[in-house]
Amino acid sequence: MNRITREQLEAITDRENIEGADVESLFNFFRHNDDLAAHAPDNLCQIDPRDGALIVYNSKRAKRPHDNQVAADDAGGQSSGDGKSCPVCSGKTTGVVDVAELSEGHTFINKNLFPVLFPPDEIKPEWLEEPLYPDPSHHGRVSYGMHFLQWTSSYHHRDWNNMPLSDRLVVLQRLAALERTLLYDSDGYMPPSSQWRSQKETSGFVSIIKNFGAPVGGSLEHGHQQISWSNIMPRSYYDNWCFYTRHNDFFSNYMLNENPVELEIKDYGKAVLMVPYFMKRPYNMMLILKDVGKQYLCELDDDELEEVAEGIGDAMNAIMDIMPRLGKETAYNLVVHNGPGAGWYCELLPYTQETGGFEQLGMWICQGTPAQAATELRRLI
Ligand SMILES: [Zn+2]
Repeated sequence: MNRITREQLEAITDRENIEGADVESLFNFFRHNDDLAAHAPDNLCQIDPRDGALIVYNSKRAKRPHDNQVAADDAGGQSSGDGKSCPVCSGKTTGVVDVAELSEGHTFINKNLFPVLFPPDEIKPEWLEEPLYPDPSHHGRVSYGMHFLQWTSSYHHRDWNNMPLSDRLVVLQRLAALERTLLYDSDGYMPPSSQWRSQKETSGFVSIIKNFGAPVGGSLEHGHQQISWSNIMPRSYYDNWCFYTRHNDFFSNYMLNENPVELEIKDYGKAVLMVPYFMKRPYNMMLILKDVGKQYLCELDDDELEEVAEGIGDAMNAIMDIMPRLGKETAYNLVVHNGPGAGWYCELLPYTQETGGFEQLGMWICQGTPAQAATELRRLI
């Protein structure tokens, strides 16, 4: 079975674990890597004045070999399927900042070779005052930070759907440790979060996502998550915040109270998996933590983390069962919501339907009802 060995990992390890890492040294891991610096983004972002959507510019990302099927054959992308030519398994990957043992093999975190955010040479005081400082000439605002990858397992074909629960818990714990270091030990590098009422004393925004499958941007087959730490707030965090100010309630709490009971897929005890009543695409799911006072993964206790790990694994297995039956290539995104006013929840978004023009106008035509999806998901899970 193809995997990266402990010895190969050791050869590329900058840090054994992320706890206590200072931001400056993490920044320097990015700045001092010539390959990474060559792929650095433009550090420029614009905001759509209509809805607050952020556009981060990175002209060099177009050169990513794994986005191109022909190049992927050469460079070891996802074409072979057996992992034999995987750059991660062959140790041809960037420096590691966290390694943890699993029942078999390891989970580890390293730097994204094609970062969407990059540390600036210096941080100007006005950047720290507020994330959206004035930009009257519309030349754009600075966007900066770091972009990491978490490899779920050193084994090529192991991921949330086929790893023991105890290993999945370790993967989540390491993700939480990275999140904690970035948010809480980074004063002076990012705008503080204190301006958001209800917000904890943190700096910057940590975004956690997973892309699986080429149709949704998964450019490498070896199972992984992406983590960005940014000075700018993703639009969906802003949406959750707006919801909070409108309703004076956490979005998670609203869903726990308002989502129809027949759309619940599974209640784990401290977390609930459900189909939202406003499902945009067939089999979209939300996994919601019941303790809505918690906002970040690093605030969850081990019982809660274990239920989240269980829910994610269940949902992914269901997606992998359903999509081939729909005649679709298995592809999904996982996105974590940990912004102000949200509580903690994540969304699982299988790519069961294309995005058309009506959807671009904000009118989603969904080929399936939430009730049908919930019934089928309950049957599978
Ligand atoms: Zn691999």
